[in-house]
Amino acid sequence: MTNAPPRAEIVVDLDAIAANTAVLRERVGRPLMAVVKADGYGHGLIPAARAVLAGGADALGVAVLDEALALRSAGVTAPVLAWLHGPGTDYSAALTADIEISVNADWGLDEVVAAAQATGRTAQVHLKVDTGLSRGGATPADWPALVAAAARAEAEGSVAVVGVWSHMAYADAPTHPTIGAQVRVFEEAVGIARAAGLTDARRHLANSAATVALPETWYDLVRPGIALYGLDPLGGDPAAHGLRPAMTVRAAVALTKRVPAGVGVSYGHTYFPERETTLALVPVGYADGVPRAAGNRAPVLAGGAQRTIAGRVCMDQFVLDVGDAAVAPGDEVVLWGPGEGGEPTAQQWADAVDTIHYELVTRVGGRFARRYVGSAGAV
Ligand SMILES: *Cc1c(COP(=O)(O)O)cnc(C)c1O
Repeated sequence: MTNAPPRAEIVVDLDAIAANTAVLRERVGRPLMAVVKADGYGHGLIPAARAVLAGGADALGVAVLDEALALRSAGVTAPVLAWLHGPGTDYSAALTADIEISVNADWGLDEVVAAAQATGRTAQVHLKVDTGLSRGGATPADWPALVAAAARAEAEGSVAVVGVWSHMAYADAPTHPTIGAQVRVFEEAVGIARAAGLTDARRHLANSAATVALPETWYDLVRPGIALYGLDPLGGDPAAHGLRPAMTVRAAVALTKRVPAGVGVSYGHTYFPERETTLALVPVGYADGVPRAAGNRAPVLAGGAQRTIAGRVCMDQFVLDVGDAAVAPGDEVVLWGPGEGGEPTAQQWADAVDTIHYELVTRVGGRFARRYVGSAGAV
C-alpha cells in the first residue's frame, strides 16, 4: 500500500509560480507585490510566498492579518501588506511583526495610531482610496480628511504613510471607460496626499489584469495575484502573456463497471448512456471543492480523451462515462492543469460551470492532498 498513488491530489509547480513572477517583474520593470491571500490562491500560502520571492517579487500582499502573521511565523521576512481589517483588530501584533497596514477610514487610522503608541512602533500605512470599485477605500469625499489625519499622525511619528493605493473594477476589460475614470480619480487622490505632505507614499493600483494589459496603471508598484499562478486574468490563453498554470488537480479512478445502455447515472439520474459502456468512479466531490455545477458540464481527461462528467457531482465522488476506453481502477483522471498533456484547463472549467478560474483554484481542497513539484523557494 505504501506505493499506492494518492486518491486525489493537487500538484503545485513552484517553478511555474517563480517563472510567472519573473516574467511579470521583468515586464513591468518596477517593484512587484505578489498577492498570496486565500492560501496562495489555493496553492499553499507559504510555498507560494517562497516561490514568488524566488521569482523576484519585492513584497507580498494578503487580505487579513492572520495571513500576514502566518507568513512571519514561517520565517518570511519580505515586506507584507495586509488590507482587510474590521473594527477591534489587534494591530499591535501586526506592528511587532513589521506588517504594513492598509487604512480605509479615520476610525481605522485611530486604531492603528493607538497600537503604534502602545507598542512604540511606527506603523507603515497604505491609505486606500475608493476610485470606483465601491468596495474598500475611502470615498473621494472622505479622502481629504483621512489624508489630513494621516499627515498629522505621520508628523507625530506614530505612522509612516508608505503607500497610496486603490483597486480596479474592470481591468479585465482593458478598454472599459471606467478605467480612465478610476485613473483620474486616483491621480487626484494622489495629488491631495502629496499636497498634504505625504510625499514618500508609493502609488499602486494594478491587479493582474492591469499588470498584463494597462501599463498606465503600473505607477510605483504592481500588485498581481492570479497571473502569478499562471492563469490569464483576461480569461484567454495564459501562454499569450508568457504564463504557465501552476496547479494540476488529479484523482485516481476508484472503481469501473460495465453497464447496459440506458442506466441512470448518479443522483437524480440526470445522465443515461446511449449504449453499453464503462462507467468510472472518481473519488472527489463537492466537499473537496469540485463544484456541483460541474455535473454534465465540466470536462476531465480520462483514458486519453476529455470527457464530460456524467450526471451529478456528489459530495465525495462523481462518475464518468468512458465508453469502451481501457480505463481501470487506479488510472489517472485530470480535472484541470496547464493543458499541455491534453487535460482541460481551469479556464475551460470556469467556462463550463459559469464561474471564474479564481473561484475554482481557491475552493478546491477538502480531502485532496497537496503535493509540490519544482524547487523554487523550497527550504
Ligand atoms: C486580490 C487582490 C489583488 C490581486 O488581484 P488579481 O486579480 O488576482 O491579480 C490585488 N489587490 C487587491 C486589493 C486584491 O484584493
